[in-house]
Amino acid sequence: MLVFAKIKSIQQKIKSLKKGTAIGFVPTMGALHKGHLSLIKQAKKENDIVIVSIFVNPTQFDKQEDLVNYPKTIDSDLSLLKSVSCDIVFTPTADEIYSSNIISQLFNFDGLEHQMEGKFRDGHFDGVGTIVKRLFEIVTPTKSYFGEKDFQQLQIIRKMVEKHQISTKIIGCEIYREADGLAMSSRNSRLTKEHRKVAPFIYKTLKEAKKEFGIKSAIEVIDWVENEFKNQPLLELEYFEIAVEETLQPIKNKDQEQKYRAFIAVFADKIRLIDNISL
Ligand code: AMP
Repeated sequence: MLVFAKIKSIQQKIKSLKKGTAIGFVPTMGALHKGHLSLIKQAKKENDIVIVSIFVNPTQFDKQEDLVNYPKTIDSDLSLLKSVSCDIVFTPTADEIYSSNIISQLFNFDGLEHQMEGKFRDGHFDGVGTIVKRLFEIVTPTKSYFGEKDFQQLQIIRKMVEKHQISTKIIGCEIYREADGLAMSSRNSRLTKEHRKVAPFIYKTLKEAKKEFGIKSAIEVIDWVENEFKNQPLLELEYFEIAVEETLQPIKNKDQEQKYRAFIAVFADKIRLIDNISL
């Protein structure tokens, strides 16, 4: 497994690959877990080589505190990457990516950026767009893998690739969960024992909401979820929304032709957890 921190060196390596080599790319912020590994394993199956980037992108954090506290576990990340036969790891510094100008490019994602996470995390998706576009330019991947865990991000990346005519195929990968249903996340390691114990309530409620959606209106399901969280003092609901998968517009009425998804964000003390389910 090769590890590069410099743009020039990884580009030289990529240039030296045989023409037509299929490159699978998995961008991450490190603190790797089995959710990340599931993306890498899928990329291994579908490409000749796999490149993983580890970069905690400063421009996508709206709170400095979150950036500073983001877990950094590079030694264990590298051994996990070796264990799944990752070929190349890219670990640039912020200076390498941004020089001294740590700011985002501004994007228009046709409104996808104003829904859900966009309402609560100022400038987040401009930061995501900026780093992912830059990484695509450097890595020139054939296929790029993103988790449905961050479904809004996945749709935004699809939109960016389409609008900016970037030639990589975006592959969405299923959410990987703990045995008790909690969606794997680098943030889970920061939960207190008490909060970790109640956190599976989030997915349990999503699954029940899916059942309810079969027989009730969207508004009734939203009311029901909001009430469920009122009885759960350790978890504070930030939002629960039902939206059209493609546009992420919150729904008014059900239409048989459309695919819907429910989205949730919850605070477990200071740790913010997100999850979603296809309805
Ligand atoms: P992150 O390091 O949190 O930026 O995540 C890197 C990639 O891994 C993103 O595309 C995430 O959506 C994906 N990812 C993170 N957690 C999971 C999970 N539990 N299941 C599937 N994909 C995930």
